[in-house]
Amino acid sequence: MSIIVIDCGHNAAGRDRGARCHDGRMENDLNQAVSARLAALLKAAGHNVVSIGNDGSGVVERGACGANNNCDLLLSIHHNAYGGGANGTSVIKSVFADRDAPKAAQCGKLILEYVSDAIGTRARNGGAPATKWNGARTADYYGVIRGNRKHNTLIVECLFCDNPSDLSRWDPDRIAAAICGAVCAVFGKPSNVVETKPEAPAPFAVGELVEFSGGAHYVSSDAKKATGGVRTPGRARLTKIVPGRAHPYHLIGTTSNVWGWVDADRVSKGESR
Ligand SMILES: [Zn+2]
Repeated sequence: MSIIVIDCGHNAAGRDRGARCHDGRMENDLNQAVSARLAALLKAAGHNVVSIGNDGSGVVERGACGANNNCDLLLSIHHNAYGGGANGTSVIKSVFADRDAPKAAQCGKLILEYVSDAIGTRARNGGAPATKWNGARTADYYGVIRGNRKHNTLIVECLFCDNPSDLSRWDPDRIAAAICGAVCAVFGKPSNVVETKPEAPAPFAVGELVEFSGGAHYVSSDAKKATGGVRTPGRARLTKIVPGRAHPYHLIGTTSNVWGWVDADRVSKGESR
C-alpha cells in the first residue's frame, strides 16, 4: 500500500486560519473536518497515512514533508474563496506532475470528478487539474507544491466556502469518501478487496486494450452507485481486474471517456492492430 501525506490547509496553531466562510466559520475548521475523515478512511483502506499541518509549519516545509516521507501522494486540503461569487471544486497539480508524478496527475483528475459528483459542485477548469507557474516560470507557484521535489502534491479546493450555494453542499463525509475512492482507484484497492480470490481466470489481461461498449462506471469494483454520468463507447486500457465483483474491470479510456470500474458485459476484446 501507498504512503499518503495529508496536509490540513492553513494553520489552527498560528494566525492563518484561511478564508472566512459565508456562515462565519473559518476555512481551517472545514479543512480539519475533511482531513481527519480522509485520514481515517485511507488508513482503513490499508494506506500509510502521515497527517501534517496545524503545527506552525510553513507551506514549503509542508511540501518537503512529502518527499521526506517518500510519499506516493501529498494531498493539501483546502476550501476556496473569491468574493462570494465564484463556485466549484478544483484540484491543482505540479506543473511537472505529468512528467514526474503521472499517478498523482491521474489521481487529481479522479478526485475532481468524484468530489464534484459526490456533492454536486461544478468541476472547474473543464474537469482537469490546474497548474500554476511562479512568475519566472521556473517552478510551481504554490509552496506546498514547490516544496515537494517528488512533484506529487495535489491541492484540493473542495468548494468555495464563501459562496452560500457551494457551502450548502459541504459534506465532509462525502468529500472524504470521494477523495479516498479516487486515491484507492489509482494507488491501490481497499484492503477488503485485496484478499479476494479469483474465481475464474479472467478472459482479459491487465494492460491490454479492450473495447468498452459505453455505460456506467464506478468508484470501486463493488460500488452500489455509478459515478460521473454515462461514459462514451470506445477503446480503453484495462488496468485492474477483480474477478467475481459486480464491476470487475478497471478501465482508463483512450478513445472512450471511461475512467473507473465497469461491468463485465460492457467489455470485449479489442481489435488487434
Ligand atoms: Zn486555503
